[in-house]
Amino acid sequence: MLENIRIQNETIPLIIKKSPNRKRTLSFHMTEIWLTIQIPLKTKEDYLEKIITKRLDWIYKHWQNLKNIKVNKIQDINIDRIYYRGEIYKLEILETDKKRCKINFENNILQIFIKKDTAPELKNKTIKKKLNEWYKKEAQDLITQETKTLAKIHNFSFSEIYIKNYKSKFWQCRAKDLYFNYKLIKLPIELIRHVILHELCHLKHKNHAKNFRNLLRELDENFVENKKYLKEKWSFILNI
Ligand SMILES: [Zn+2]
Repeated sequence: MLENIRIQNETIPLIIKKSPNRKRTLSFHMTEIWLTIQIPLKTKEDYLEKIITKRLDWIYKHWQNLKNIKVNKIQDINIDRIYYRGEIYKLEILETDKKRCKINFENNILQIFIKKDTAPELKNKTIKKKLNEWYKKEAQDLITQETKTLAKIHNFSFSEIYIKNYKSKFWQCRAKDLYFNYKLIKLPIELIRHVILHELCHLKHKNHAKNFRNLLRELDENFVENKKYLKEKWSFILNI
């Protein structure tokens, strides 16, 4: 099966999902990390290649758009509180004479120190950058720890854990590697665990068919509620 699509100077990773429920049509879903195409079980490779070739313009355009969204998104943040592991904390911005920006989390307050003479138009950008770096570091530590623990308890083996900034996608299992959106750190630990378990189950079952659901239900007793909550809240979490 195809692995990557090359267009101009871009390489777009491609995931082909064979779906037993799909009768005829192919569906394309693009995120900033790869393109997923769901196909009916019996789709022939040359037919798939033909469809992809036909759609190359669309694929390239979408890929470029997603890249641009990521760049523009940093601006215009005015926040005085943050979400962290399911709780809300106060965010304090303090000015300092020191050259380096620093961050402090004590007594339920997150303090970000920024250089005194930072230009007003750069302030929000600097704050947001620092905050996201902090989130990412926290996510890296917690998710890595939790994944190792859960994998050990339930007997899964994985290769690497990647904590990244995705615009929409917040988890993924590819080969034996696990990918998580660092914004998961904003959610309560039970939901973070639910997502980790979801990904661990994909090590055994690639799709979301019955076997997958049964296994996840076995490992996560609040499977139904957790799944529902995530579905409802995720776009909010992404944008705060
Ligand atoms: Zn999944």
